[in-house]
Amino acid sequence: MYLDVGSLLTLMLVSVLATAAAVAAVMGFAAGTAARWVVAAGLVHAAAWGSFLLAAPIHDRGFSTLWIGLLGVSFACMWRAVCCWTGRQPCKRVLAATLVLTPLGYGLGFENYPFRVGWSNAGLCIAMALVCVAALQRAPHVGRRWRGVLVAGLGPLAAITLARGILGAFFTASYPELRTPHPVNVAGALLGHVALALTTLAFCLGWREETENALRARADTDPLTGLLNRRAWLERAEQMLSAARRYGESVALLLLDVDHFKRLNDTLGHQAGDEALTAIGRTLAREIRAGDLACRWGGEEFCVLVRHAAAAEGRLADARLRRSMAREFAGTPDRAVTFSSGLAVFGPELGTIAELIRSADAALYRAKALGRGRLIAADTPAAGIAEPELAAA
Ligand code: GH3
Ligand code: MG
Ligand code: MG
Repeated sequence: MYLDVGSLLTLMLVSVLATAAAVAAVMGFAAGTAARWVVAAGLVHAAAWGSFLLAAPIHDRGFSTLWIGLLGVSFACMWRAVCCWTGRQPCKRVLAATLVLTPLGYGLGFENYPFRVGWSNAGLCIAMALVCVAALQRAPHVGRRWRGVLVAGLGPLAAITLARGILGAFFTASYPELRTPHPVNVAGALLGHVALALTTLAFCLGWREETENALRARADTDPLTGLLNRRAWLERAEQMLSAARRYGESVALLLLDVDHFKRLNDTLGHQAGDEALTAIGRTLAREIRAGDLACRWGGEEFCVLVRHAAAAEGRLADARLRRSMAREFAGTPDRAVTFSSGLAVFGPELGTIAELIRSADAALYRAKALGRGRLIAADTPAAGIAEPELAAA
């Protein structure tokens, strides 16, 4: 089988151009920060190979230097895209230095063939390796498979690029030019194609993961308050209760209902009511501890699962919420709201989320009956509550 390196490189240029155009058309620049870097990587990569073509007919040193510089920039764009997804930016300074020094050394040392080939290929190898390093960072919330595909595409290309640099620098006689039918050149051109296919696939998968996560977050969130909605909360609450069951932890449930909310709507309008609900959501999100779970249960009712909490800690959490709510509405006394709450504690009698809710709801009903603006725990004996107050509810 004869593989002509020149044809492979021409094909590479066509593939790079077609892929860059397709990725830009599909993702566009409005598709999020990471996707923008992916599109930029494709376009810069295409421009790099365009410069490579222009080098021989127009200005070898200038366009060849541009080619090397742009290749580095396109890997840096890939690095940025991966960093956007993983939230980590490893070896940022090394990458910046590589981006500057690789074309600089190449341009300045252009007349010295072994140096320029060794220098530029080493620089490009480092840039590709850094994309792999970014992809291999610990990021539990980011898919591993597409990152693996990215490393599988770029890793071998980085290795063959280094081999090319070593050949050019130290075995120059056997490696006169990039288009020479040398096995390393053939392998390099082939791996270039594989890398283009795999990196494109990996970035599309990374992008899909990002959009899926965004959709899921949207589906789980109540738009007015930014809290979890009932369905998403129930899912997570089940998980929290199974963990509590397994490890023998205590969990308290607070069910909150805003007092006389209808009155606020009727006097100040629905918009003011909505703003009050948003402020309540903000307060809950701010006040709950990491690991606790708050949601908008529906209308003007909210639920909070407090981890590692028995009745006493549940009461403390409720008191903290009341204080914070008072502060939140201190600047707008006309729309200040209070709430009533029911408290139920997970245990042998209340072992499921449905039982907890039912019990907290009954306690909440009693809190309303007792005059609102207070907490009643599910285990509070009803004997303490006067019948007329209950009847008045
Ligand atoms: P109570 O103290 O007995 O709980 O009195 P309440 O007025 O809060 O109780 P009720 O359940 O009768 O009224 C709840 C009100 O909450 C009625 C409904 O219009 C209002 N509400 C529910 N969801 C929204 C919302 O998204 N925005 C606004 N502005 N109001 C809402
Ligand atoms: Mg209600
Ligand atoms: Mg209410």
